[in-house]
Amino acid sequence: MKKKLMIDLDETICSPSYLEEVNKFMGTNYQYEDIETYFVEDIIPEEKREKFLDYFYQNVNVYEHAKALPDAISVIQELNEVYDIYIVSAFVDKRRIDESSIMAKYKYEWIRKNLPFIDPKKIILTGSKDLIMCDIKIDDKFGNLKGYGETKLLLDHLHNREFTREELEERGVRRVVSWLQIRDILLGGNQNDLS
Ligand SMILES: [Mg+2]
Repeated sequence: MKKKLMIDLDETICSPSYLEEVNKFMGTNYQYEDIETYFVEDIIPEEKREKFLDYFYQNVNVYEHAKALPDAISVIQELNEVYDIYIVSAFVDKRRIDESSIMAKYKYEWIRKNLPFIDPKKIILTGSKDLIMCDIKIDDKFGNLKGYGETKLLLDHLHNREFTREELEERGVRRVVSWLQIRDILLGGNQNDLS
């Protein structure tokens, strides 16, 4: 039986254009290197955030121009031959619960367009990733790698650098820097090497 592999979407497979939208709204020119927090919107002054969310949910599809991370699509296609792949993504925005449904639509459309080889029944849009029982998990958010899983890979980003190697090791998580490294680990014959 193929091993089950859970892959996160945002900042793991693709980069939605949140920062571009924040820049457009604010008239700024922030670069990704400037952002150390998980939510890009944190750079918006608090008094303007409600207005931004109004603008965001009425006008913006951040997946319209979302770019796949380097080598993500081709490596996932290769992994799909060997593993039972589930694309798992959260979509509920606690600040705008009723308006969040549109994000499920945008995410689903992006996955269908860019990962057409993934069985649509294995696209899981949820707020409860920890319930997903997969053998292998790939995510850019450390908190999503808790719970079940024999191999857990954290894709390196500025926003997750605060976690030390020791903290990751304690939870059996390995930091990876690229999809080519993920390919080496999961297809290179050293699947059990978590050093
Ligand atoms: Mg993510």
